[in-house]
Amino acid sequence: MWVSTHPTTCPETHELISGINHDISAIRLTEYKVKKSMSHKFINRKKRIMKKKYRCFALFSGGLDSMLSVLHMSELGYEVVPVFFKSLFFGPENALKAAEQIDYKLIVHDISEKHLEMLKNPRYGFGKNMNPCIDCHGLMFREAAQLMEQYKIDFIISGEVLGQRPMSQRHDALNAVGKLSKVKDLLVRPLSQKLLTDTLPIREGWVKKEDMLDIQDRGRYRQMELAEKYKITFYQNPGGGCLLTDAGYSRRLRDLMDHDMMEMKFIEFLKFGRHFRISDNLKIIVGRNENDNDALTSLAVDEIVLQAKYFPGPSGILNSMIQPTEEEIKIAASLLLRYCNKAPEISTVAYGKKYQLQNTVEVKKINALKVEEYLI
Ligand code: SF4
Repeated sequence: MWVSTHPTTCPETHELISGINHDISAIRLTEYKVKKSMSHKFINRKKRIMKKKYRCFALFSGGLDSMLSVLHMSELGYEVVPVFFKSLFFGPENALKAAEQIDYKLIVHDISEKHLEMLKNPRYGFGKNMNPCIDCHGLMFREAAQLMEQYKIDFIISGEVLGQRPMSQRHDALNAVGKLSKVKDLLVRPLSQKLLTDTLPIREGWVKKEDMLDIQDRGRYRQMELAEKYKITFYQNPGGGCLLTDAGYSRRLRDLMDHDMMEMKFIEFLKFGRHFRISDNLKIIVGRNENDNDALTSLAVDEIVLQAKYFPGPSGILNSMIQPTEEEIKIAASLLLRYCNKAPEISTVAYGKKYQLQNTVEVKKINALKVEEYLI
């Protein structure tokens, strides 16, 4: 059937047809729009895929190398998220300052318990002191891997430099760290990656190998040049801030380990005062100064506290696995008295739970030469 669509021929039909035509145009327009928007979406998606900004965690110690690896990757266009793992042996203070200097917000994550467990039996042993660096790095990478999903991270970087540190940064050590981390294939070490085996981010083209650096060994001049380029004016020494690299601290920690006292409550005391081993079950810590005394007494909860009864002097804290004997308390008191300069050779020492020193014992200052025997 022929139908006039001319308005003058049949206005009603025209209305009908033009209505239909209008609908058809509307449908076509919508189709066009949908197609257009789809193609835009597709292009945008393609663009997004091509221009995806990869996000990486940077294991951040606050040392120069970790700062450089963050800045190098950031300059290449990666979104870098620095993360610091704190434990009983290293706190985030220096790392926070370093992150602030390069204008980054630092994530601080507590691994104290896991770190302590690892420290009791590190698979790759200790460095010069009680620093189990290979296992420690492995643990940090493992922890970082567990946080990747939460922070939408694609891979992990660190400031490790091949051959720079005797224990943890030899070629085989870097491999061991990777193996322990269980995410070996996601690790990139921007400062040395040119010299290392390719990992997934390199193989997949997320990171171009030619953009990576080839720094190695202990000379620091390349890092100094980069520090100048990035205007880094302050940084701490590698390993600085980790108590496990300190000889005196390590000696005290080793003593705890040898006496099955590797518990958080005993470890907390290791940072302060002079430490003396009285028996397999007992040690006394004597404050060196007012700060030590304050810190030691504030840490004491159930511990026995000792103080000279009639003279000013340091506080002493007993760390013990079992109730100390009277004889052990006498030795502890005589050690404490040795450090009370104003007290006479024989004097009274009060002891008991914090703020309740209701017990007393009269003792003689221990012989100065004998002190060495007890000193840890
Ligand atoms: S120096 Fe301390 S914090 Fe650094 S890897 Fe070694 S044990 Fe861990």
